[in-house]
Amino acid sequence: MEKIKTDVLKQMFLDGARLIIEKEPYLTEIDSVIGDGDHGEGMKRGCEALIKILETENYVYVDELCRAVSIELIKTMGGASGIIFGTMFLGGISSLGH
Ligand SMILES: [Mg+2]
Repeated sequence: MEKIKTDVLKQMFLDGARLIIEKEPYLTEIDSVIGDGDHGEGMKRGCEALIKILETENYVYVDELCRAVSIELIKTMGGASGIIFGTMFLGGISSLGH
């Protein structure tokens, strides 16, 4: 299995977070049809917080980066999304053993 470098994964998180922020109006629009319309706002809030820590902190290991991403999303995103996305990245590193 090919390994991913921490700085490449960090850039992927940054790119994904910026795209989600850009698409906040669309997320709000579709959640207004099927839910209560706050999904875009929560995703944007979590992604803005994520960008802030990723732009200021340095991570040596992939699991260290994923753990920080998880904690930040759980802390800031709110609703079910924060727990789901935060847990997903935390669960993804559970077998790395660091
Ligand atoms: Mg909602």
